[in-house]
Amino acid sequence: MKYISTRGQAPELGFNDVLLTGLARDGGLYVPLDLPHFSADDIRAFRGMRYQDVALRVMTPFVCPDIAEDDLSEIITKAYGTFRHKAIVPLSQSDSNHWILELFHGPTLAFKDVALQLLGHLFDHILTKQGRKVTIVGATSGDTGSAAIECIKDRACAEIFMLHPKGRVSDVQRRQMTTVLSPNVHNLAVDGNFDDCQAMVKALFNDLAFRDEITLSAVNSINWARVMAQIVYYFTSAVALGAPDREVSYSVPTGNFGDIYAGYMAQKMGLPIRQLIVATNRNDILTRVLTSGDYTVGNVSPTISPSMDIQVSSNFERLLHNLYDGQGDEVRRLMDGLTSSGSFTIDGPELNKAKQIFDAIQVSEGDTEATIKAVFAQTGQLIDPHTAVGVRAAELKNTDPATPMITLSTAHPAKFPDAVEKVTGQHPALPAHMADLFERPEKYDLLDHDLGALKSYIRENL
Ligand SMILES: *Cc1c(COP(=O)(O)O)cnc(C)c1O
Repeated sequence: MKYISTRGQAPELGFNDVLLTGLARDGGLYVPLDLPHFSADDIRAFRGMRYQDVALRVMTPFVCPDIAEDDLSEIITKAYGTFRHKAIVPLSQSDSNHWILELFHGPTLAFKDVALQLLGHLFDHILTKQGRKVTIVGATSGDTGSAAIECIKDRACAEIFMLHPKGRVSDVQRRQMTTVLSPNVHNLAVDGNFDDCQAMVKALFNDLAFRDEITLSAVNSINWARVMAQIVYYFTSAVALGAPDREVSYSVPTGNFGDIYAGYMAQKMGLPIRQLIVATNRNDILTRVLTSGDYTVGNVSPTISPSMDIQVSSNFERLLHNLYDGQGDEVRRLMDGLTSSGSFTIDGPELNKAKQIFDAIQVSEGDTEATIKAVFAQTGQLIDPHTAVGVRAAELKNTDPATPMITLSTAHPAKFPDAVEKVTGQHPALPAHMADLFERPEKYDLLDHDLGALKSYIRENL
């Protein structure tokens, strides 16, 4: 598989280079030149298969010829060996025809483990073979950080620097990062919000000299391999509910547009998906752009679903690439507009195309709380606030009750215990392997919202 940049001015790369590079050198994101296609028979053959076996079939076309199928198989086995549920991502039922896809059985209790556990082993495989080492710098609104640290800690192939907005991630989220004491892990609490952190990381990538100096790499949601890993669970869950002989719909709590974009990729690869619902909290830039075409960056407003408190949604650029039929100059024009004026507009055929692919809705804080409460009352199940945003969006936007609706459950309720306890009176317990999280010592440094300070910190700590 060959990959091209959404902005059309970076070299075409194979999978290994795309994995290690993260952001393209023209500022764009890498996307596959053409997608593999799975026929109805191919999909039918997934019935009854283990998650790992479907993963191998879905991902092989994306990594070949760079990674041999046998090696990929081994990588997948190791990656999902850390999950605490045999089905890896089990489905549970929350209403007559509404299902919850539990993506939180990995080491850090959020869906990001599904992709990042795999990425850690992919990095190891490639870098060990090449005898190289990379520096990973990332920004996190909470869950990416711990999942990335968990995938890189103690590996000889990489050093990781993780920026989080000081005081804006939950205690559980912070401690999952800062209690990892491995010498190759560096946590930084930045004076600013998530978008500030993300902008600093983007600026590092655009500083080509510094980028080469430290062999910069990323495991952020801009990394194509994460999207690739997330495509798999759309296939496994749809097949469990009758695909390809029955359509299914998805509601996806969305921030950086990575998870929902993976669903769109699955649909393009042949999976019969009826609706793809983009569920946002009151930071609703995605709902705005997908309903009115207006992508204007506003101020981030803190919510009880903090992993979606995002205004600049990195993976949206990949959708622009699809909407504009791969015209890199169009994507570049829009993204330049975003940099210079904080907004762009899509209209005409492109907006109509986007509306045909996605339904989008913003869910209020009150509705999110009411949904956590209602699901508990009706099923006895505790769901986290991000999942609740998805569940509520599904209820509001579902156009066909006969089609199974699957809401992606992106975090374990114990990751956001305060919000859950407030409305249900139940304190969601951390799983046993994390029960002592609040007794473990923490290690992190404070950093000003300043690019120069970040660069010096990295140089000093490498
Ligand atoms: C990251 C995250 C999201 C948003 O996922 P995107 O791929 O950025 O859209 C939703 N919920 C939780 C719990 C997350 O950690």
